[in-house]
Amino acid sequence: MTDFRPDGSWLDRRAFLRRLALGWVSMSALTTIGQIMKTDPATTPKMPVLFVGHGSPMNALEDNEFSRAWAGLGAALPQPRAILCVSAHWETDGTRVTAMPKPKTIHDFWGFPPDLYKKLYPAPGSPEWAKTTRGTIRSTTVEPDMSWGLDHGTWSVLCRMFPAADVPVFQLSLDRKLPPRRHYEIGRELAPLREQGLLIVGSGNLVHNLGMMEWTDKAFDWAAEFDSKVAALIGKHDHDALIRYEALGPGAALAIPTNEHYLPMLYALALQGKDEPLDFFTEKVVLGSISMRGFRIG
Ligand code: ZN
Repeated sequence: MTDFRPDGSWLDRRAFLRRLALGWVSMSALTTIGQIMKTDPATTPKMPVLFVGHGSPMNALEDNEFSRAWAGLGAALPQPRAILCVSAHWETDGTRVTAMPKPKTIHDFWGFPPDLYKKLYPAPGSPEWAKTTRGTIRSTTVEPDMSWGLDHGTWSVLCRMFPAADVPVFQLSLDRKLPPRRHYEIGRELAPLREQGLLIVGSGNLVHNLGMMEWTDKAFDWAAEFDSKVAALIGKHDHDALIRYEALGPGAALAIPTNEHYLPMLYALALQGKDEPLDFFTEKVVLGSISMRGFRIG
């Protein structure tokens, strides 16, 4: 016990855990260590950040390559203290954050099978984390919201990633009046929350044209091209070009006829540290014009 230092290296921690396994640590010492673990920021791992291409809400029910990838990802992630989702499906005047203790499951889609409308995601909300988030974003006023809940951009993904629904979830809205650069800047301001154990998830689709969608396995050429172009820029860490997406050639107007599904990606990218790794966990264009590309940072 004497050589365990709560501010020490992982080797020290490992030695401590070995002793714990061998029964060398008394219960009173454990209580003390428990308090240290709760309060010492060094013991909270910096959480990864996700961007998820959510696509059809049927991914909440179907067993397919996307739902399997999300489930695998959820199992591999460190346990978050809470989840903040920036969903394409919540646009407001001004920026808002859900602050209710029990957010409702919102079935914000039409014409799907009855089973999908019965599906609930009863994760608790978090008024405390909502308050912390409001205090963390300084460049604009963030209003607490008691009327929204969890829309399908959030729950259709999280029900696969965290099926137990036991991690508090809250949402940050997209201010429909802001230009892309401001969304990126607000995303950046969320960085300290990662250190506190918050998993931040952007949920949208970087190519999203419902008007051109077709029942086909093949991506339209313009969709595949734009998806690859964006992936290459993400790989090069060229966030400036991604913020100025309208200048990315004629495919941009087809891929992003309205930008609410693209903007959540900017929140995720804004949180990428200079040398932080990024991995694509899904990469496919479905129905001709919807990119399911998703990535994990950190
Ligand atoms: Zn959507």
